Amino acid sequence: MSADHPVGTSVRDAVEQKFCYRCGASIPLDATACPTCGAPQAPVYPRKNKVIAAVLAFLFGSFGAHRFYLGQIGWGLLYLVFFWTVIPGIVAIIEGIIYLATSDEAFARKYG
Ligand SMILES: [Zn+2]
Repeated sequence: MSADHPVGTSVRDAVEQKFCYRCGASIPLDATACPTCGAPQAPVYPRKNKVIAAVLAFLFGSFGAHRFYLGQIGWGLLYLVFFWTVIPGIVAIIEGIIYLATSDEAFARKYG
């Protein structure tokens, strides 16, 4: 274990980096353990569940249910107003597929 941690030494890696909760070292976003101190890194837990969002999109997407779930009230209302055009329903199915194809980490960053 080293006492000095190279925090912030690499600016170019800043985007896809997170910080070890134990030693504060900058580590890759998808690292499962800290390379500096070996502490296991908990994944980012999404507060919104992408599977629930996808199911809502498939079942009630025409009414913008998945948008309301994700806290996007404005979008939800837009879907609700135009549900009779069928377009929101089609868009919602595509969005549901996108939600499922998005990694938990990326989903958490975008909607969490
Ligand atoms: Zn560490």
